[in-house]
Amino acid sequence: MVSRGELFTECRSLIAARDEDTADFDTTCIFQDLLGDKNPMFLPKEPVPDDKAAEIRSLAKRRSEGYPLQYLLGQWEFWGCNFKVGEGVLIPRPDTETLVEQVLDICRREKLKAPKIADLCSGSGCIAVALKKELPDAEVYAVELSDKALGYLKQNTAANGCGDIHIIKGDVLKRETAMSLMGLDILVSNPPYLTSQDMSELQTEVTYEPASALFGGEDGLGFYRAMTELWKMSVKEGGFIAYEFGMGQHDDVKAILEKNSFTDVEFRKDGGGIIRTAAARNIIVNKPAIM
Ligand code: GLN
Repeated sequence: MVSRGELFTECRSLIAARDEDTADFDTTCIFQDLLGDKNPMFLPKEPVPDDKAAEIRSLAKRRSEGYPLQYLLGQWEFWGCNFKVGEGVLIPRPDTETLVEQVLDICRREKLKAPKIADLCSGSGCIAVALKKELPDAEVYAVELSDKALGYLKQNTAANGCGDIHIIKGDVLKRETAMSLMGLDILVSNPPYLTSQDMSELQTEVTYEPASALFGGEDGLGFYRAMTELWKMSVKEGGFIAYEFGMGQHDDVKAILEKNSFTDVEFRKDGGGIIRTAAARNIIVNKPAIM
């Protein structure tokens, strides 16, 4: 039987041939996942049973070919919570924590203790769950269209003790979906925002993620234009829209918000110093339509 130490060196060098920077981390995660120990290298001479060694080698090989680590592990952390992930759902990114922080700061500032919040294009549910964890009295809705993503969304809300998040299967670009959710204090979304150019230059890892969660039309702004226009009636007067977007899209997103009765646009930078989110206040009074 191969020892943990020998196997680690073998798998690490396989992954390092592709990416030296992540090799230690990736190999450690794979070992932790398969051996169940927090520090699997504590006992480097410990033999690894043949079937486990074969599984570990197979994961290391897939990782060395560019398959995302998060999908290999089947789970990933966001906001201190664990989210099940796999093909068909976008992997939660640390950048998105900036969006959660901005929404929480708005709730603190505006003294919103039990806000009505809708998370559009919810995917794994990472935003909805993080907000519900921090604001237990909030009425949170998570809207998602893809059946595969909905499977993860349901699992993740339940497993994180957020079973009372209202999950809605719906197309955020359809009027009927927007009409079904009125009187929102906050609409939050990390919609697809990559451009055609971005889609043609994806990192191998990202090609395994659903294009429907990545591609935002030719200039990447399609969802911001359509969603803001369609959903502005769902946000109450004085309520907010908070969006995540890609590098360099902030001025365009601001212009879209301002064209649609939103004002006081505030930007936030992510951990890498990139302007990543915007929040703005609705100034129109949304009255129920007179029939
Ligand atoms: N942040 C993702 C990426 O850069 C894109 C996610 C999205 O389009 N909302 O790959």
